Amino acid sequence: MLTRFAPSPTGELHLGHGWSALLAHDAARGAGGEFHLRIDDIDGSRSREAYVDAALADLEWLGLAWDGAPVRQSQRLGDYDAALADLRARGLVYPCFCTRADIAASLAAPHGPPNPSGAAIYPGTCRPLGAATRERRLAEEPHCWRLDMRHAAALAGDLAWEEEGRGMRAADPAAHGDIVLARKDAPASYHLASTLDDAAMRVTHVVRGADLIASTDVHRLLQALLGLATPVYRHHALVCGADGQRLAKRDAAASLASLRESGVDGKILADDLRAGRLPAGYSLRMP
Ligand code: GLU
Repeated sequence: MLTRFAPSPTGELHLGHGWSALLAHDAARGAGGEFHLRIDDIDGSRSREAYVDAALADLEWLGLAWDGAPVRQSQRLGDYDAALADLRARGLVYPCFCTRADIAASLAAPHGPPNPSGAAIYPGTCRPLGAATRERRLAEEPHCWRLDMRHAAALAGDLAWEEEGRGMRAADPAAHGDIVLARKDAPASYHLASTLDDAAMRVTHVVRGADLIASTDVHRLLQALLGLATPVYRHHALVCGADGQRLAKRDAAASLASLRESGVDGKILADDLRAGRLPAGYSLRMP
């Protein structure tokens, strides 16, 4: 068994991240397996080295040791480019030149429900552009790359994944519409980078928050398109604050760094979490 914890260094980790890391760590250790760390640092405008250092310190403080050197997404850009080139050569992605304002304007008319991740479904404006128009605009305009979902989902056929202990789940990638695989400002989207990394790291069990369960529809499709192995998934309950809402990076009071600095013993906190005892005011909920 090989599990991973993959923080994005865009803020301090909070109790919910600690819970997720602990579950992934303990699952691997309990099976005599490996626990790896990945730093999801391709969001150049928001990633900060100080948050990487803080995340490592948080994990050490909780007593969660990882195997090997942390993998950095920023050092795996070649893999992301190669996968995108492969999909491009097979006609499964297309460049999209829409700005946020363009998309908002075309969605202003009454539109269908959001996709399972809660985002608006891209209306497909750039999908029918001809080859000559694409070439000209590619040379001149900022663009992202989108998956031609109907085409990709039809090619892949029926897909499912194993949700640990709960049987098989059908994946419904088509409900997500033409998702972005490479962004204007980042060389790969979360979906593409995370799917490729989990395969390259040989992750056997992806342990992550239930807020990401909808993303697995898309990850499963990318695995099928790119010939990657499918790990088992375990989407766990989320730590919520006194308001019943799941924690966010802006919830400073719940940050692991602030608990660490206020003298809380991280190893005792980790054992309390293992025993299902959360600090006062926090609870675990399935979204
Ligand atoms: N960096 C991602 C996050 O923090 C990782 C999500 C995942 O575990 O797949 O949300």
